[in-house]
Amino acid sequence: MKHLAALVLSLTLSLLFISFSAQASNCSGVNGAIKDVVFLAQPNCDLAEGVSIVVNEIAKTFGGPNITVIMGSVSNNASFDLGHLIELPYQMIFYGQYGASYPMSRVSVITSAAHEYGHAIFHERVKKEFPDKFGDLAAKFAKVSDLKEAVARGKATSEQLSKAALELAAAPAYADFSKYLTAYSEFYADVITVFNFESKSAMLKALYYDQMSDNEYYYVRTRDFDSKPSSSHDDMLSEDHAKLAYVRAYVGEFMWPENREQARVYADKILSAIMVVAKEDIKSGRSPEFKEMSDRLIAELKKP
Ligand SMILES: [Zn+2]
Repeated sequence: MKHLAALVLSLTLSLLFISFSAQASNCSGVNGAIKDVVFLAQPNCDLAEGVSIVVNEIAKTFGGPNITVIMGSVSNNASFDLGHLIELPYQMIFYGQYGASYPMSRVSVITSAAHEYGHAIFHERVKKEFPDKFGDLAAKFAKVSDLKEAVARGKATSEQLSKAALELAAAPAYADFSKYLTAYSEFYADVITVFNFESKSAMLKALYYDQMSDNEYYYVRTRDFDSKPSSSHDDMLSEDHAKLAYVRAYVGEFMWPENREQARVYADKILSAIMVVAKEDIKSGRSPEFKEMSDRLIAELKKP
């Protein structure tokens, strides 16, 4: 389901953009937590400013690091690079069977930006909670991120970037990071998104298009906070984005905030609960399957 990778936390080190000649933005409405927007394809200040507004709303309510946005061409994918870069397309487009393509509205890019910034908040917490386990890895992520931006601006070579990327991929903690934290990170990034837009179905709406197959629909519904996944589709829940579908339904039902302050409190509680269970996972040396993972996180959320 290739196009459903639209909102993945990309651990792949996309080097694609370096073939473009990038342009730094002079967009007046880009500010605050967004240090800059670098356009690889067509500049679009209106979209960049829309992204800036949403990221700053999130930073104001939930706290979050400063980031730089790399805005590429049409794509089915957005990503946070675990350093300081969020890569977004200027238009999200999904691909169906038989080569059909489905261009999505501006909302899909804005929602993706919120989701990716949610990963950035998550990653800041991981750096604080796991300095021994992932501190060295975080430094490698930061180095690759710095070089990626420098290459995009013509201030470093792709050879320098490749070398840093290979060092990162060879780090033993890299595989552990993905194994233990990806499903939690995807869940939390969705929490930030739905809380920010005050819509339990914000993720579903960003991913949905009329022509998707039934299976694809059931899969994107695992991102919804307004409905429980159907147990007949439990086989879909091994995938990292879908794995905590039951916890999304729990949050939608029992931890739905009434205002921004409550959203901040709940998001913080959710992040702290994730850190507790993730530490247990790492200590035990295994990442649980979806049922156990969901039950344990919900039990942690129920604690006063
Ligand atoms: Zn993601």
